[in-house]
Amino acid sequence: MKKIADVVIVGGGLIGCASAYYLARRGMGVVLLERGQVGEGASGACEGFISLQSKRPGRPLEMARRSAEMYAGLSAELDADIEYDAWGGLTVLEGEDELREGAALAERLQGAGVEAELLQGRDVRQIAPALTERLAGVVYCPSEARVDPLRLLFAFADAARRHGADIRPGVAVEGILCEGGRVTGVRTACGTWSCGCVVNAAGAWAPQLVAPLGVHLPIRPRRGQVIVTERAPELLRPFLLSASYISAKLTPAVGSGRIIAAAIAQTRTGNFLIGGTREFVGEDVNNSPEALREIMAHALRLLPGLGGVSLVRAFAGLRPHSDSGEPILSRLSAPDGLILAAGHGGDGVALAPVTGRIVASLVSQGSCGMPVSPCDNHATEMQI
Ligand SMILES: Cc1cc2nc3c(=O)[nH]c(=O)nc-3n(C[C@H](O)[C@H](O)[C@H](O)COP(=O)(O)OP(=O)(O)OC[C@H]3O[C@@H](n4cnc5c(N)ncnc54)[C@H](O)[C@@H]3O)c2cc1C
Repeated sequence: MKKIADVVIVGGGLIGCASAYYLARRGMGVVLLERGQVGEGASGACEGFISLQSKRPGRPLEMARRSAEMYAGLSAELDADIEYDAWGGLTVLEGEDELREGAALAERLQGAGVEAELLQGRDVRQIAPALTERLAGVVYCPSEARVDPLRLLFAFADAARRHGADIRPGVAVEGILCEGGRVTGVRTACGTWSCGCVVNAAGAWAPQLVAPLGVHLPIRPRRGQVIVTERAPELLRPFLLSASYISAKLTPAVGSGRIIAAAIAQTRTGNFLIGGTREFVGEDVNNSPEALREIMAHALRLLPGLGGVSLVRAFAGLRPHSDSGEPILSRLSAPDGLILAAGHGGDGVALAPVTGRIVASLVSQGSCGMPVSPCDNHATEMQI
């Protein structure tokens, strides 16, 4: 039987599944091919913060704002409980230097139209009573939220299927086929799919897929390690990031060493997720005892009440880190029909809805409502 689709999406992570949903909703014939199980990459090994404070000013923050707005109605739209909790987020500030940086961060966010305030002393304890009193302050952003990333991924995939998308785990794409400068399909061990558009949503593995076409993607795997605790009585409602986490993300110079920075949330069920690291270690997804010890030491300093909570496991995932610090979202003209949607680094959960919508616009109209990537040549102002 001949396999034909309007669009083939490569990769069943959050970016691929969100793209499948927004494309199928527009009535396009979508096939998503995932070499393993959906959610087997970074999207199944992450924390789920919908953070605004950690986004660079300009396009990343604007995309994050649009995505955050979309999140508010997403459970209802997808008809699924994605455990979206709009409990706000905190950047914790230790010492005078971080306090100064925090004040500048709050001001910058306010200037960009994001509700954010610098809090100290009693005001901090009203929002997060269990935080150490030794903090210099926090930046509080009430419109930040958290979601369960796997629930979100399956909700996108199920909703895409309801709109007719064909989502196939266990099918690795071995190559993208082109003729006369145009994409014509993909090659897999199960045969060839013919299509006019291919979306490369292969996360940290996106470069390998397009390298044979002469397309260079500056994306590398960057490991993150996270500890999970048992269920505990409520200690923390807003998620928290350390100031070092924010500066590791905002600083353009890419450190090649291991960065340990706190990223802590207590989920709806009471488990803590305690991250994390940023490390270039190839495709190694093991946990390292030294890193876990450092993560816990930092977490206990910020949230001493964690001392009475048992740890149950740890995991690690590979962020698709782009060297520019921004996702690569683009429709190429050579070969025509190739869409790039990868390199979301530590922001793929926050940016999944807006990315899916941008991809749908790039496929169906060849452009979208915002400048989307350093190599994009379709930066017209349209509504996405
Ligand atoms: C520890 C950790 C914590 C994080 N926390 C947050 C957070 O709090 N908030 C946030 O916004 N982001 C967070 N992130 C980042 C977020 O998880 C990623 O940006 C996002 O999951 C990337 O999604 P993706 O679909 O691009 O990639 P992936 O989820 O990695 O999906 C890519 C998929 O492509 C498949 N694939 C690859 N090659 C092929 C092929 N040839 N054929 C078929 N399939 C293929 C892979 O098997 C994989 O399933 C975190 C990441 C980590 C590691």
